Amino acid sequence: MRIDPRKCVACGNCVSVCPMSAIAVDPATNRARVNTDECVECYACFNGMSMEKLNPFFVRTVRSFLQIFRLRFDPEPDVCPTSAILPDELAWPRVVRRAFSDPQVTHESTGVHGRGTEEVKTNDVTNRVSVGEVGYVVEFGRPTVGVRFRDIEKMTMALATLGIEFEAKNPVTHMMTDRTTGKLRDDILNEKILSAIVEFKTPAAAMNTVLRRVEEVSKSLDTVVAVGVSTRCDDSGDSALDDLLSEQGYSYVRGKTNLGLGRVTAS
Ligand code: SF4
Ligand code: SF4
Repeated sequence: MRIDPRKCVACGNCVSVCPMSAIAVDPATNRARVNTDECVECYACFNGMSMEKLNPFFVRTVRSFLQIFRLRFDPEPDVCPTSAILPDELAWPRVVRRAFSDPQVTHESTGVHGRGTEEVKTNDVTNRVSVGEVGYVVEFGRPTVGVRFRDIEKMTMALATLGIEFEAKNPVTHMMTDRTTGKLRDDILNEKILSAIVEFKTPAAAMNTVLRRVEEVSKSLDTVVAVGVSTRCDDSGDSALDDLLSEQGYSYVRGKTNLGLGRVTAS
């Protein structure tokens, strides 16, 4: 994303819209500017604001004139008055920023919007996680911190040594050059994205080792990490997770319960 300095009138409206704090008004030039290294191409500024087409010269003149009388002309807070915010033509590898950060973009690898799959939300029909297994989502970068792929790779490579099985349909898995080692493509490692989710599963007995490893690696990353675990309950509605989590001192809530009312299309 970039801002056309010929059009920008430095109203500052776009500054607070950016979740990465990548936009600032440069006092030297009196124009807003995008820090392209920090910008994750989420399009929140471009899609989230109304673009008006006021003449920049006219707006600057009015603002300067009113300043003499200690008055201000400010556009509505969700408006860029001069349509100064312009999307760039994104090439590889930068285009992965948008694929992982703009919720309106369909990810080519999964065919769904956003960062992950449907996870366990549709487990009653996908049977992705069976009784006695644990499914995991390890989420990076939310809210408003972002993450670079090199930090995600540190986690995936550390987890791969435990012999886990990465979810094949997950977008991060698609970025791996070797799913047995968790290695990601070298050319995307410096790309920053709004957030990402790594998905995998293990037998229930491995859960505590996995969670300890996630906790350990998280401390060395320049982002925030959140973990969710899931399983399939047995016929009486119980799961091994309740005891396993309590024994290890994790507090938890049954955040989402899938009642199994879906149509079974896989076994
Ligand atoms: S909203 Fe538009 S005119 Fe205002 S600072 Fe941002 S780019 Fe410049
Ligand atoms: S595209 Fe997103 S990250 Fe980039 S400047 Fe706009 S709001 Fe900020």
